[in-house]
Amino acid sequence: MRLAIETPDGTLAVELALPRRPMRLAELIPAFVEVDDRASALAVLRSSREGRPVSCRRGCAACCRQLVAVSPPEAFHLAEVVEASPRREELIARFAAARTALDASPVGRALDAPASLMSEARALEIALAYPRLRLDCPFLVRTGASDGAVEEVCSIYADRPAVCREYSVVTPAEHCTMPSPARPVRRVPVPFRLSEALAAVTAELLGGPVQSIPLPRALAWVEAHREEGRQNFAPDDLARRVLAALAG
Ligand code: SF4
Repeated sequence: MRLAIETPDGTLAVELALPRRPMRLAELIPAFVEVDDRASALAVLRSSREGRPVSCRRGCAACCRQLVAVSPPEAFHLAEVVEASPRREELIARFAAARTALDASPVGRALDAPASLMSEARALEIALAYPRLRLDCPFLVRTGASDGAVEEVCSIYADRPAVCREYSVVTPAEHCTMPSPARPVRRVPVPFRLSEALAAVTAELLGGPVQSIPLPRALAWVEAHREEGRQNFAPDDLARRVLAALAG
């Protein structure tokens, strides 16, 4: 499917690679990440041209201990990534450990409240409290850098969730490590929130509330929603719904 998407930073000409058969929600991810990446890259370029260069650098994983929430299609996709990984057992164990730690914390209990009933102030409070749990993302790994130092990198970079793709900041890394009202994180505004669009489309198609799943809970969520993950939809209709949701 060919289309032109308008963003504040220019028009994106995109060819969406959709399967020629009914598709599962997880298959939306490979189709839409390029759109998301290109829109975010244009936003980063604009920020730099306007004198606000991005401070994110390879090896900095300060944001990988923040609250990352994914939509149902992303959760289904990530479960497939884990399933296909040579590190499958290790990743499953890491998810279980992160989920147990999150569920036992006040932050985890606060996240149990339905998103629709959560005020913006409460959501911000939770987002600021989450990094204090010092919970590594299950996909974060430590490797040796060329200068001998140890750096932290995303082990599923090409498959990382939309919020990670859309996260570029112009403030120092310390602000991401422990954000607070005194040390706010200033992000480059992006034209799309792919995760929100995917969550809205899922709710439209499957019924029920719009769901935003904390990453440590993603595998357990998929386990409890296997049937929804197997359902098939017409590719063109699915893509049009996501595009409409992206356009807001
Ligand atoms: S998925 Fe990757 S980029 Fe996103 S929080 Fe985890 S390690 Fe970081």
